[in-house]
Amino acid sequence: MTAQPESAMLGLAAEIAAGDRRALARAITLIESERADHAHEATALLESLLPATGGAVRLGISGAPGVGKSTFIESFGMHLLGAGLRVAVLAVDPTSRRSGGSILGDKTRMERLARENAAFIRPSPAGRTLGGVARRTSEALLLCEAAGFDVVIVETVGVGQSETAVAGLVDMFLLLIAPGGGDELQGIKRGIVELADLVLVNKDDGDLAAAAGRIAAEYKGALSLLRPESAHWSPEVLRCSALAQTGIAEVWAAVERHRRALTDSGALKARRATQAREALWAEVTEELLQRLRKAPKAGPLVPAIEARVAAGSLSPRAAAQLLIETEE
Ligand code: GDP
Repeated sequence: MTAQPESAMLGLAAEIAAGDRRALARAITLIESERADHAHEATALLESLLPATGGAVRLGISGAPGVGKSTFIESFGMHLLGAGLRVAVLAVDPTSRRSGGSILGDKTRMERLARENAAFIRPSPAGRTLGGVARRTSEALLLCEAAGFDVVIVETVGVGQSETAVAGLVDMFLLLIAPGGGDELQGIKRGIVELADLVLVNKDDGDLAAAAGRIAAEYKGALSLLRPESAHWSPEVLRCSALAQTGIAEVWAAVERHRRALTDSGALKARRATQAREALWAEVTEELLQRLRKAPKAGPLVPAIEARVAAGSLSPRAAAQLLIETEE
């Protein structure tokens, strides 16, 4: 992508506001770019579209590989399309850089949904860090809102801290579990259940239905021991079959209940305000860090100082002070 003059940027903003999916895809590529001139344009684009954002239901969906995320998102997405809603799916996959290819957001994973005009699917940006991927995803989410999508689903696989990062971007966080993998209680063991507004036990069909019932009971038990994070919503456990397409309407009903509860109480506004404040400081931290690394006096010292810290001959605290004070 080449640098665009101001008028082209306004054109792009207008195309996005008109719901043009190709323009939306181009804009997301722009915000993901690491080129300085692109960063400038991306900032201007986001600023111009900001008044048109905020209208979507922002949903996070996480689960281990194989629990049925793409099958569920496809069934759920088709259900929403059937209700006349437009759906965008964004992926947060911090493994995409390491494995050379993203496991999530691949269009072939949701073929039916990808063919629909009212749907938009975007693979995870290949970022160096989870923080970087999450920041760009939150901007992509805003662009989807400006493009008029009613529901934006942010999908992540349960690795590292990715669930926490995604929970920090969305209004409601769904944890998808399924029987048959042998690690069904991972969500409880790893503490992820604490982030969940809704635990969804998938594959509630055929031979797996009995196990799905047992797992649902385990999660209900685990949730009953936790103090709900919000005074306005107690996390629920539901069962569905993404394959047989049962229980899908009930999931949307729960999302709508959650939405009403948080909107009526003002909690949604507060949650988004907190997220926006945290995003501000994440941006500041990252920007200052980059500037320090490239700074004329401190920058060249970084490798040597890092080596001394790694070797244990300089404490991290003293090293940090040294770098910062060198530049001041
Ligand atoms: P992901 O890795 O979490 O995205 O999982 P996929 O959606 O790719 O599904 C993994 C496997 O589970 C596939 O073979 C699916 O057909 C199967 N699967 C997904 N949902 C269901 C379901 O509701 N019931 C059953 N029995 N199998 C399912």
